[in-house]
Amino acid sequence: MAIRTSSDGPEEILSGLFRIQVPLPRSPLRSINAWVIPGGDRVLLVDTGMFRPECETVLLGGLSVLGIDLTRLDVFITHIHADHSGLAGVLAERGARILMGRREAVLLDAFGDKKRFAAVLVEQGVTYGIPRQDLERAARGHPGLRYSPDGYPPVTTVDPGDVLAAGGYRFEAVATPGHTPGHLCLWDAGHRLLMSGDHILGDITPNITSWPGVADSLGDYLRSLDLVRRLDPALALPGHRSPITEPLVRIAELERHHEARLAEVEAILADGPLTVCEVASRMTWDIRAENWSAFPDAQKWFACGEAASHLDRLAVLGRARSAGDPPRWEVIP
Ligand SMILES: [Zn+2]
Repeated sequence: MAIRTSSDGPEEILSGLFRIQVPLPRSPLRSINAWVIPGGDRVLLVDTGMFRPECETVLLGGLSVLGIDLTRLDVFITHIHADHSGLAGVLAERGARILMGRREAVLLDAFGDKKRFAAVLVEQGVTYGIPRQDLERAARGHPGLRYSPDGYPPVTTVDPGDVLAAGGYRFEAVATPGHTPGHLCLWDAGHRLLMSGDHILGDITPNITSWPGVADSLGDYLRSLDLVRRLDPALALPGHRSPITEPLVRIAELERHHEARLAEVEAILADGPLTVCEVASRMTWDIRAENWSAFPDAQKWFACGEAASHLDRLAVLGRARSAGDPPRWEVIP
């Protein structure tokens, strides 16, 4: 497949498949890719951008340049994160239909209310060993709370195996839990094309965090990577940054990254027992901050979540265990 690029406005990346790069101001992610496939009775849009005016202007502007009638738009949300789902309500108000994985829709019900979401964040943070007063401040600044709408429109649920066809493409929904518990990718076997959401990203590593009610997010994620490897995609179109022209090479890199992270966490636990937060503070992070206490609240939050997912994985592998309240972790000798 020939990949095309252009400078601004919607770019035709593949024949009949366009990208609108929706800016994410003040986010290290920089932008989100909204993928548009016009043609046929329905138009398919994959992911939306955050609920903020800069995102709305660019997304609606791009759809307008492409001549999209919003009442014919099917908006497929790969997962609930605010940068992917935030404009669902804005599009639904204009007549679009919102599609989302069934498990993700259940999460949206559980977390969709901002007050409930903040309470879940705080309770989880307490188990990481973060002081409650810090958590209440961190929850207020959490981008998932600041840039999501107050409510979501009704969604049409999608199950793995469901088919979404648009233009010259025929996608099947594929369950890829890990980054979120109900994350779905779209797979076009004829084109060997994967719309990968945040499951596989090119030059950044998808955040893998722990989720309430999920025993082993990282294990789920690694199994989902293996599933995609067996599909053997020739091209992945991710939620952020550039198309991935060698997805299998990228999958191998992501697996090595998490192996190295597991080894790092295990080595840190030699000083244990430690809380999740204490483990996170000793891990290496690719962030411009002098030291752990200089991390912005939200980044501390993400770091603890990532540490927790690696600790959960070590526990499942029989290499670490925790006890106490808040739990303190140690290696199993
Ligand atoms: Zn995400």
